[in-house]
Amino acid sequence: MLMKCVRLKRIHARLILALLVTLLLIIIVSKLKTNENLESGQLVLDNNSTQIFEKKLTDYERRIIPNLGDNGDPSFLEGNDAKEGEKALKTFALNTVLSDRMPLNRKLRDPRNKKCKRFKYNPKLKTSVIVIFYNELMSVILRTIWSVILQTPSHLLKEIILVDDASTEENLNGLLDYYIETRLRNYNIKIIHLKHRLGLIRARLQGARAAQGDVLIFLDAHCEATEDWVEPLLSRIEEDRTAVLVPIIDVIEANNLAYSTNGDSSFQVGGFSWSGHFTWIDIQNEEDKHKLTPVKSPTMAGGLFAIDRNFFWDIGSYDEQMDGWGGENLEMSFRIWQCGGRLETVPCSRVGHIFRDFHPYSFPDNKDTHGINTARLAHVWMDDYKRLFFMHQPGLENNPIVGDLTHRKQLRQKLRCKSFKWYLDNVYPEKFVPDENVVAHGQVRTEFEMCLDDLQLADDKVGPLGLYQCHPHMAMSQYFSISEKGELRKENFCSEVFNEHDVQLTECHGHKREQYWVYHKNGTIFNPSVNRCLSSEGVENGGGVKADICKDTLYQRWKFDKVNETAMAV
Ligand code: UDP
Ligand code: MN
Repeated sequence: MLMKCVRLKRIHARLILALLVTLLLIIIVSKLKTNENLESGQLVLDNNSTQIFEKKLTDYERRIIPNLGDNGDPSFLEGNDAKEGEKALKTFALNTVLSDRMPLNRKLRDPRNKKCKRFKYNPKLKTSVIVIFYNELMSVILRTIWSVILQTPSHLLKEIILVDDASTEENLNGLLDYYIETRLRNYNIKIIHLKHRLGLIRARLQGARAAQGDVLIFLDAHCEATEDWVEPLLSRIEEDRTAVLVPIIDVIEANNLAYSTNGDSSFQVGGFSWSGHFTWIDIQNEEDKHKLTPVKSPTMAGGLFAIDRNFFWDIGSYDEQMDGWGGENLEMSFRIWQCGGRLETVPCSRVGHIFRDFHPYSFPDNKDTHGINTARLAHVWMDDYKRLFFMHQPGLENNPIVGDLTHRKQLRQKLRCKSFKWYLDNVYPEKFVPDENVVAHGQVRTEFEMCLDDLQLADDKVGPLGLYQCHPHMAMSQYFSISEKGELRKENFCSEVFNEHDVQLTECHGHKREQYWVYHKNGTIFNPSVNRCLSSEGVENGGGVKADICKDTLYQRWKFDKVNETAMAV
């Protein structure tokens, strides 16, 4: 009996030991797993590499031209440097030559409205500033870091976290770390080198996981912060932890690195287009237009924002299945509003950002990550309104490439988020919905199978309202509406009569006049301000339609796919 007991005890002990070992192994493996994308940020230096790095840096520092770009003034190089700069602009969408010659800690003028100085802030929260980058120019990254250090009171700055999204650029693998260890030793700067490229959404998530500050501020790696930029952000979050904030984003010119502002008091907020792109929009409410306190914004541009760290996680951080670049900003914007937060622009906080004409990097397989990510958010957040996005991207609607959405849909349920209709009605009521509350919409054809067409007009341009053979399937270039206000429009573009005769697509102004049309039951589209009718007479395929003297001709008869008979004029 006793023997049995002893043996049993031994078996017990062995079992427990085995269990413990397994547990330990599981912990180690899972730790390794969560770290598998992370390399240690520790730079191991021997004498040799120290010498090489030091020489490289001193050479580099010697070439910096003192005071170049001070105040944010436009800067120019001469001779061969100027030529090389032009070339770089074409390759990298940025004058890298100029950036390398400009001091890393240049002093910018204060771009704020002067009245901002009246506000006294005294926030208690500390921030982690997270900067992610993939193959950005080292001098541009360092200027971003320097501006944060110089413009943020040290008691408000917990740390700066750099996430290198597996850059292949040589300087970013060693020299940058060396610069931080030697030139910025007194500041709390962490650098995480990812082993594999994760794309900007997951790179930001890795930064957020490492952060310890009360507030996360994300910045692109080509930004410059200005005076008092952080105080109004932290104070507002202290007041309301569900407020997610964007500063005014000023333009740092890619060619001469000038810090340019759009005046000191007018600014825009974020909107979106049904094609799933971020747009800048005017503030609607008159009182808000010149406010210096935070103003509501329906969406955010994405690269620069501040959010309470716990709130970031509570509200669903990011959709981790989003790859590459794009879409995450609208996903976060809709989610924040629909799930109980707010998005605001803070007019007294200003940060410059280099807007590049194109992305200097590409993605593996040239995947349209922006489209795929937007399809994900459309399915999860836009309810029935997703139809309007998928009209632009029919190929993505039922495409397995979009991936599994279970977790994000569960999140929406768990957080008891409101509908997209609520968002449109309450946050973005001016957003035009092309197939709701309209007189007519769809393709607009003549008896001769010719259709109104935007002729692929770019979003930021003015161009003729065109005529083109009707496409057999609905194509967005041929989708028009007549709004309740009598606009013949395509999203934010309205048809307007110029010189009594030409019809142009131009931004909707909402004041009727030359943008006001009456759609009659007989098919004529009449513009009372010039007393003329929309006509396709004599217009060739690909030409612009005209406003002509009204007469009884088939060239002046237009048929929309869908009409609301009761709203039409007799
Ligand atoms: N980025 C990244 N991984 C990528 C692509 C971009 O870390 O695969 C970084 C990039 O270096 C930048 C930020 O993400 O700091 C935002 O990208 P970008 O500035 O090109 O976007 P944009 O401002 O044009 O929207
Ligand atoms: Mn950017």
